[in-house]
Amino acid sequence: MRAVKGCARQQRRAVAAAAGKRGNVFLDDSPQQGRRRSGRGGSDDEPYSAAKLFDSSRFNYDSDEEEEEEAQQTGSAADAASSAAAPEQEQAVEIVLPPPRGVRVKTAEFIKSSVNVEQCPPPRFPEFAVIGRSNVGKSSLINMLTGRSSLAMVSKTPGKTRCINHFLINGSWYLVDLPGYGYARTSKGNVLEWNRFTREYFAERETLVTVLLLVDASIPPMPLDISCAAWFAEAEVPFTVVFTKLDKRKKGTPPAEENIAAFEAAVADACGYMPPSILTSSKSGQGRNELLAHVAQLRDFFTKQNHSTLA
Ligand code: GDP
Repeated sequence: MRAVKGCARQQRRAVAAAAGKRGNVFLDDSPQQGRRRSGRGGSDDEPYSAAKLFDSSRFNYDSDEEEEEEAQQTGSAADAASSAAAPEQEQAVEIVLPPPRGVRVKTAEFIKSSVNVEQCPPPRFPEFAVIGRSNVGKSSLINMLTGRSSLAMVSKTPGKTRCINHFLINGSWYLVDLPGYGYARTSKGNVLEWNRFTREYFAERETLVTVLLLVDASIPPMPLDISCAAWFAEAEVPFTVVFTKLDKRKKGTPPAEENIAAFEAAVADACGYMPPSILTSSKSGQGRNELLAHVAQLRDFFTKQNHSTLA
């Protein structure tokens, strides 16, 4: 496995801590339809505590001014968060992130398709990569998040399905649509196979904040998705599991809750911890606010840590 570059590794450990790996930060009792849950350890021995980040009354993204004001008031909390996230700290940490800012998506535009990391747009903005098996609901989720009904269709046009596709949101962060993954048969059995440059992207893209790993909640856990989570954990690539299709129930199959519990148990077993997870449905809009708030908080955290890297 290609290791993440040294400088990127330190940043990524901090982001993983902020997102809930080892430490636990996110609120458990979201008033919204979707749930956002803190990462948790794979064993009962690992400390777990959920810190309430912001009041439920703050789940209102109508006023950016209010968001700015709140952010200023909690600036010191953010500074405390940065210093709490000592990269090499092996013990459990608890980081309190400030309320999310800039949650609303005002503009979303396709920037470019790239076939290697060098071709990607200059790394000026924090970015969030979306990945999942084909048919998991990736395009639908990107469209739901951005509120654009056909934005992700760009990635489905011939020639672009196997590319790294960058979308610029609010002129300040990238949502990146990555090609899916599969299994390659080798003498040792089935191994996870990435598109050649997707793996390079994980290792080299220094502005990658976190990966959103999409998992279909309407079906029982797929070994391929668990292998993918284990690969991220091993490569120290921070990731959040985004369960899709919460509204869907196929006849004769277990309900989404059961599939999710089974997936989380399998990931905790394979990775030693379960990263944050968010439950969504592109059909009903469930989880949209939670996911955008999650992205906004990690973005702020990352930007504060890397103000010198980002031009
Ligand atoms: P992609 O191949 O991962 O980009 O998946 P798409 O977004 O194209 O979705 C694949 C199929 O799943 C389509 O038929 C979608 O209508 C359906 N789908 C996607 N998201 C949802 C969802 O949240 N609920 C339901 N019921 N169906 C969904």
